[in-house]
Amino acid sequence: MKKRFWRCFVCNDIHFGIAPPELCPTCKVLDAYVEISAEEARKILGGGPGVSQTADEFRAAIERFTTGNEFQVNPDREKVDLLVKGIFENERNHGLKYCPCRLRTKDWEEDLRIVCPCNFLIHDTYKGLPDGECWCGLFIRRK
Ligand code: SF4
Repeated sequence: MKKRFWRCFVCNDIHFGIAPPELCPTCKVLDAYVEISAEEARKILGGGPGVSQTADEFRAAIERFTTGNEFQVNPDREKVDLLVKGIFENERNHGLKYCPCRLRTKDWEEDLRIVCPCNFLIHDTYKGLPDGECWCGLFIRRK
């Protein structure tokens, strides 16, 4: 089933899923979601050139993301610096933190799949490998 965009008519919370949540997690109103287009969602979310987070905030966010997970941020600081630089260049030039080592299709909805962090658990470079890593090596399997 295809995921679609939904907007809470009370607080403009955006949900991307097969169905809208019954309860808005932001304003707690029941049955508040209306379906909107991907383009409308993009505008509401502020998609477009611009940087929404600093590189340090992004690093802190991905460290929190890995806590308690089977993967960690690559301890190779130099490599991570380069990848984060590429991610932020993509955000500046193309509006979202796209993967620094894969090409966009230019279909905004399709390209949401390569916003970092992506679903790298399914990558051949990660899946089932003791030394698995995401396609770019930003995340590696925790030992
Ligand atoms: S492959 Fe790694 S760097 Fe690229 S988007 Fe996925 S998690 Fe981020």
